[in-house]
Parts: sequence; C-alpha cells; structure tokens
Amino acid sequence: MDDSRYYKPSGAAPLGGIFSAVSISGTAALLAGALYGVVDYYNPLIYVNFLGTLILSVIVGGITFRRLTSGRIRSRIVSMLIGLLVATVMCYGAWVTYIFALTGWDALIVDPLSLLEVIQVVAANGVWSIKKHTPTGWELFVVWLIEAGVIYAFVLTSALEIQPPYCEDCDERTEPEVSKHPMAQCAAPLLRDELEGEQYAALLDAIRTEVNPRSFLALSINTCPSCRERAFLQISEVTVVTNKEGNDETKESVVVPWIMVDSRHRADIMEALQGERKPAIEGDVPELTEVLDDDEAAS
Ligand SMILES: [Zn+2]
Repeated sequence: MDDSRYYKPSGAAPLGGIFSAVSISGTAALLAGALYGVVDYYNPLIYVNFLGTLILSVIVGGITFRRLTSGRIRSRIVSMLIGLLVATVMCYGAWVTYIFALTGWDALIVDPLSLLEVIQVVAANGVWSIKKHTPTGWELFVVWLIEAGVIYAFVLTSALEIQPPYCEDCDERTEPEVSKHPMAQCAAPLLRDELEGEQYAALLDAIRTEVNPRSFLALSINTCPSCRERAFLQISEVTVVTNKEGNDETKESVVVPWIMVDSRHRADIMEALQGERKPAIEGDVPELTEVLDDDEAAS
C-alpha cells in the first residue's frame, strides 16, 4: 500500500491551543462531574446513574474534541494527554460534590489527597444498599471503577477522533467543500488502489451512477480556505439496515481515509458532482437480503 498520499497530522501542538483546550474542556468536565456527583447521590437507580455518566461523558468528550480542533492541535499524544486530564477532572468534580452531599453539605473537600482518604472511609462503611445488601470495600470499588471507566473511555475516544485535515503551508484547518455526497457502491479496495495511484476513473464513475439509498458510498472533500490548493477527500460506506423493531439504522464506516487530491482532479470531481446520473447496472449493487423485515418476507 502506498500511504504517502494519505493525510498525516504533523504532530504540532501550539501552546495557546493547549491552554484553551485544557481550560475550557477542563471547566466543562469539572461542572459536568459536579452535576453528576449530586445526581449520583440523590438518585437511587443505578441504571439512571450509568446513563448519566454516559450522557455527560459524551458531552464533555464532544467539547474536548472541538477545543482540540479549534486549538489547532495536530498531535495525537497531546490530544490523548488532554483527554486523560479532562476525564480525571470530571471524576474529581464528581467526587467533590458527592462527598459534599454525603456529609449533608458540610464537608467540601477539594484537596485531592484528603478526598482519597475520605473515599477509602466511604468504601469501608458502604453508602447504599441493593436488596438489603450494603456493598463495601472491593464491591464498591468495582462499581466506581466501571463508572470511571465509562468516563475515561468516552472522553478519550472523542479526544482521539480523527480531526479534519490541516494545511501546514497556510497554518489553517481545511473546511468541508463537499460533505458526504452519496455515490454508487463500488469495490472499496479497487477505489483505494486507484486513488493512491492518482487514478480517478472508478471514483468519477461512482459519482455519475445512480445510488441505492440503502447501500452507497459517501464522498467528502475538505479544502484549505486560504490557498484553495491543499485538499483531501474521504470516502465512507453507508448502509441502512432495518432492525428487529422495524426501524432503520444507518451504519457508516470509513473505507478511504483522508487522501490528497490535486486541483485538476478536484475540478473533474466537482464537474461530475454537477452532472446527471446514469442508471446502475443490474448486479452491480450488492443484494441486501438481510434488510428484509418479517412483513416483507411474508407478503
Ligand atoms: Zn492552505
């Protein structure tokens, strides 16, 4: 595989960007954690608490991803470290308000070392009961570790999400010029090989062919807003599957990650996007028997 044409983040991480990502995402994490600590204390339903952890982690993760992107951070390691820090701050915020509520709004312990000592005392005595059983010690630690694990997993996944490519010449993030434009399904390995070798016939053909709305490829192009020269395209595969409840679920996965495209070929692609589509040839599109739901199968 020739990977020289694929976008690789330069690894740069400007100090201003780090500062803004840490301060803004950190504040959001502290607030979300503090809110969660209170909810966790007052809510007796463990499932609701897990759902709360999930929702707040996704929100904090989303904020972190946006701050890393706007802060021009192109380093995976720095993104990961900031993600770890943000998740830790969120757990810390949750413990501070949880202990505060637990002590009848008496002890606001902000010193992390004292907080750890209090947590150990809480673990030894237990705080809540399920079916007349009050978990203590390792049982409680397992529950807390799972909750913390959810926070770390979601925040880190968001922090490490692939960012839009960056134009290092102009020191600017590229912006969407084409966003998930549907095109006909075709063999992904062939498409990848072609694009790596700067061949665009298969891509142009897919753009010009009618699309099966339940199974298609989606084309995105990002261009540098300053030089208008540096551009990358990305292709993902989209399938719509009907689940057991009869609802459509859309699944999307990247089949060609951000790969460079020059101005001339970009112009060809843009022209093809404006043109009419020809009908798909029978048998070109994979059969989607698995999406048939029971009603359709019965009729
Ligand atoms: Zn540029």
